Amino acid sequence: MRTLSSLGNLTGKTVLVRCDLNVPVKDGVIGDDGRIRASLDTINRLRSGGAKVVILSHLGRPEARAEAKFSLKPVAHRLSELLGSNVMFVSETIGEQAAQAIARLQPGEVLLLENVRFNEGETSKDSAIRRAFAQEIAALGDVFVSDGFGVVHREQASVTDLAELLPSAAGLLVERELTVLERLTRTPERPYTVVLGGSKVSDKLGVIHHLLDKVDTILIGGGMLFTFLAAKGYPVGASLLEADQIETVRGYVAKAQELGVAIEVPTDVVVAATFNADAQFEVVAADQIEQSTIGKTAVGLDIGPETAQRYADIIRRSRTVFWNGPMGVFEFENFARGTATVARALTECQGLTVVGGGDSAAAVRALGFSDSEFGHISTGGGASLEFLEGRTLPGLAAIGWT
Ligand code: ADP
Ligand code: MG
Repeated sequence: MRTLSSLGNLTGKTVLVRCDLNVPVKDGVIGDDGRIRASLDTINRLRSGGAKVVILSHLGRPEARAEAKFSLKPVAHRLSELLGSNVMFVSETIGEQAAQAIARLQPGEVLLLENVRFNEGETSKDSAIRRAFAQEIAALGDVFVSDGFGVVHREQASVTDLAELLPSAAGLLVERELTVLERLTRTPERPYTVVLGGSKVSDKLGVIHHLLDKVDTILIGGGMLFTFLAAKGYPVGASLLEADQIETVRGYVAKAQELGVAIEVPTDVVVAATFNADAQFEVVAADQIEQSTIGKTAVGLDIGPETAQRYADIIRRSRTVFWNGPMGVFEFENFARGTATVARALTECQGLTVVGGGDSAAAVRALGFSDSEFGHISTGGGASLEFLEGRTLPGLAAIGWT
């Protein structure tokens, strides 16, 4: 994989850097800023090398048009604070304004362009549309640095196409992430446990079958647990469910049995009357969700205490643990216990522990754990999972990874 040094002397050059500054923003206020902090090394390295630094990022999942709530403007402010130096912001990704602002940049200065996903070309499945957008971005700079680890598993204009159009290399964050993740893929110490949760159910269900021949145990929590319960024939009320994945999940369970891999599923869950912080809630056995006092409208929002303890014991006994996806809706105090119990167990585990994913990282910090209590906190959830599966990530292939 090409690294920064392969780009040669960058003094006076305009360097386009793809970062992953996709942080939680609510009413213009940034929650966990871990991904911004993780991007600082590369930005500072480029600045001190005399480059004009132009940053590209996405935020959230806008519908290919400008939406104020997905603007990167608040991120420019936070980035200025963290760098201790003004970061200019342009409210478009490509266009006249962007080009003029870049033309005025001085060596060592930093500019952030507006959310790449406001443009149809960024995530288009049509490679010609994507390529045309990437060409417009490429025209704004001399070289490209790929440092948005959280998106290197995506085939998107500012990730893959741009890397092919300009001299390109990995940034320091991508290098650092890969150093740790390679320890997990080469010769992981066993037992090796992967903990899966979160809300992107269909994305994450897909990774399970690739992990089956690599790990000893998979612990299931978060939104996907209900598809596993449904696969056992249990009613799940109004919980998150991918009904069309039930058969697939049954296949995973059968394959796991064949391979001697344990897929652990909750025996108890916390259900609520509605998806709200102050909703009425109770703990029920996993097969009794619709027998709760809430009945058929019960929404499962966390793993239960018995399950959390069982998962914690498995984690503490493991020598390698990778965790992606909160066990429950940790943003609501009443549904954060499963996530907190699992997080504590990781901090108590003697082996290598890695937490991956924007929300997972935010969760452990929000629950009061510090980064140093874990082996590594990865900025990428989906990307790190796909890496662990042994897949070739398109964003890495584009910068010479083999
Ligand atoms: P990451 O960013 O770490 O990869 P995801 O984005 O997949 O994780 O998922 C994080 C979200 O999953 C959190 O906002 C959390 O509230 C949500 N979540 C966890 N459990 C559930 C559940 N049972 N039902 C709905 N959402 C859930
Ligand atoms: Mg997320």
